[in-house]
Amino acid sequence: MPRLSEVLTALDALWPRSLAEQWDAVGTVCGDPDAGISRVLFAVDPVQEVADEAIRTGADLLVTHHPLYLRGTTTVAADTFKGRVVHSRIKNDVALHVAHTNADRADPGVSDALAGALGLRVVGPLVPDPADPHGRRGLGRICEPAHPMTLAEFTALAAERLPATAQGIRATGDPEAPLTRIAVSGGSGDSLFDDVRAAGVDAFLTADLRHHPASEAAQRPGAPALIDAAHWATEWPWCELAATQLDAVSERHGWGLRTFVSATVTDPWTAHAASSPSVTHESSGAPN
Ligand SMILES: [Zn+2]
Repeated sequence: MPRLSEVLTALDALWPRSLAEQWDAVGTVCGDPDAGISRVLFAVDPVQEVADEAIRTGADLLVTHHPLYLRGTTTVAADTFKGRVVHSRIKNDVALHVAHTNADRADPGVSDALAGALGLRVVGPLVPDPADPHGRRGLGRICEPAHPMTLAEFTALAAERLPATAQGIRATGDPEAPLTRIAVSGGSGDSLFDDVRAAGVDAFLTADLRHHPASEAAQRPGAPALIDAAHWATEWPWCELAATQLDAVSERHGWGLRTFVSATVTDPWTAHAASSPSVTHESSGAPN
């Protein structure tokens, strides 16, 4: 059975901490480097439901995409949600490790997993990492569908292939527009609009698109279609990829690790009611 320090060395090789953004907080939150590791659970969010799931799974290590503490703290008292997560980790001998923007930038990374879930072939990064001589690392991915499809077909495919959330999938643009090149970026992607435009793609799938950036981007002549999925749903496929990557490392070393992917939906939005277009259009009141 490998020690935590050995498993962390393997994780750092997959998602080097040096690839993380400067503002990020990646790496190990808690854990004894000498502790033996036999089961590893991967999840997007280090929330209490996932922390409890790790205990139920018998995991010794929980690897999440999102940091528990992005900014500094002066307390891990258990009367805060984050402190309670730390307490339950230590009491139950479950280490917690974070791979965030380093996993976004890595090759393969979060957006490769997203593209894979959508059945897209990755052509290259949307924002290449200039330090990568192979031109494969970076933010987002430019992709091609296996066969040409319309925006309506791709939107339906995203709803079918990505894990279900209350939000579902929203899209802007002509539903019949043909898509031959599609950019994807797991997580909040509206800061990448300039890169998406420069890439000349037909569509951009990401999450957390806000009214003004989306509205302005959609108004530009020749604007790519925008497809907005739930943040959690765009990053969850990485958990499966990450588990597969660690499985391969475990096999190489003869570690016998068992990896698990959290089935808990941790997108914060839990309800959705679609508006009825007839009601919206027939309303005689002035919009607020
Ligand atoms: Zn995220």
